[in-house]
Amino acid sequence: MPELVFFSGTMDCGKSTLALQIEHNRSARGLQGMIFTRDDRAGVGKLSSRLGLVTDAVEAAEGFDFYAYLVGHLSKGGRCDYVIADEAQFLSPEQIDQLARVVDDLELDVFAFGITTDFRSKLFPGSQRLVELADRVEVLQVEALCWCGARATHNARTVGGEMVVEGAQVVVGDVDAGDEIGYEVLCRRHHRRRMTAATARAAALSPDVLPVTPM
Ligand SMILES: [Zn+2]
Repeated sequence: MPELVFFSGTMDCGKSTLALQIEHNRSARGLQGMIFTRDDRAGVGKLSSRLGLVTDAVEAAEGFDFYAYLVGHLSKGGRCDYVIADEAQFLSPEQIDQLARVVDDLELDVFAFGITTDFRSKLFPGSQRLVELADRVEVLQVEALCWCGARATHNARTVGGEMVVEGAQVVVGDVDAGDEIGYEVLCRRHHRRRMTAATARAAALSPDVLPVTPM
């Protein structure tokens, strides 16, 4: 039976690397996949992993219809044995519904990869719809670690080095110098306390944390 599988996790949990691995394993067995992504850090029409691997992909922009695209591809004699959708957190709920229809009506496996929650620890709409519809949810546990050494389960956004919990859900791409927005993965405890690696370092160096004898 074809399946809709949602591989979910934090940033840096190895989702795109696994997507590329699945693609490699299946194409080595002679299968042909259709790869989609949205706003990959490597640019339009690319699926990349932090380990430096890149492959071409179809850009599933806002309003893109997965079901119509695949029906069009197949009806023109194109081949597709399975579907990979990376950065699925950025997809709309309607687009996730289309992916479910691809599984049910076109009888193709669909492997969707996405970050579960945003920097406010709220579900992305695309990820929420995947949790609702997927036949299987696989939580990726490539050990992303908080600065304290605990397993990182939450994504933090920093602006100018300070962790923030408000702002637009999506700010696209990796952040480079000149852009003061950054991301860091944290354990829940330190996400709740808004304590990033830099904040923790500063606190450890600050005389404020030395015991104070009440006068
Ligand atoms: Zn921690």
